[in-house]
Amino acid sequence: MHPAIVAAALDALAVLVPVSCAGCGSDDRGLCSACRSQLVPTLVEQRLDGGLSVMSALPYDGVARRSILALKEQGRTDLARPLGRPLAVAVAAAVAAMDATIEVVIVPASGRSYRRRGYDPVRLLARRAGVPIARVGLRAGRGLATQKTLDREGRMANVVGSMHATRRLSGRRFLLLDDVVTTGSTLVEAARALRSAGAEVVGCVTLAYTPSRLLGLSTETAQRQ
Ligand SMILES: [Zn+2]
Repeated sequence: MHPAIVAAALDALAVLVPVSCAGCGSDDRGLCSACRSQLVPTLVEQRLDGGLSVMSALPYDGVARRSILALKEQGRTDLARPLGRPLAVAVAAAVAAMDATIEVVIVPASGRSYRRRGYDPVRLLARRAGVPIARVGLRAGRGLATQKTLDREGRMANVVGSMHATRRLSGRRFLLLDDVVTTGSTLVEAARALRSAGAEVVGCVTLAYTPSRLLGLSTETAQRQ
């Protein structure tokens, strides 16, 4: 089934079946207003190894973390809408200094995660954020599914060479989009794959960043309101 149809069906289901707030568990539809107010973006920009910049909207903890996990692991596609708002702010901030030739591309999910979920949470977030996504044939192969259990070096070793673009992208310029930046290894690999297809990668945006990783990752961290 087309992912948009699956997402629409799951959204409709969330309206029919009462769900509890993904942030605090209270009896509410999706996300209660107190928890929604925790999703006000506080933009953080950091630099990954190799100089790639990443703009993120929220620290990956509390309500944001629980909501993202529910979206990714519990089929709570209704949360893509409230989470799409802070993402839209981060994308707008990242593209503000860029020209109109920039295209946004999402970091691909592995085929295995896509089959398990039946939808791609990052694509859904982008749609709810109103961010048009370029289809460039970026594919994720092996690795990826086991990233969670690995340390920084292990993640990079696991992910290097795991992605490829199925077409030439010479002369095109991209901003990479993902849900959470932890070590940044997945973003670095996606950028490598795009560049090896001839593209330029101008930066990245993620909905959330892992706060404990921030100091170790960045030499030019700038916290902005
Ligand atoms: Zn709540």
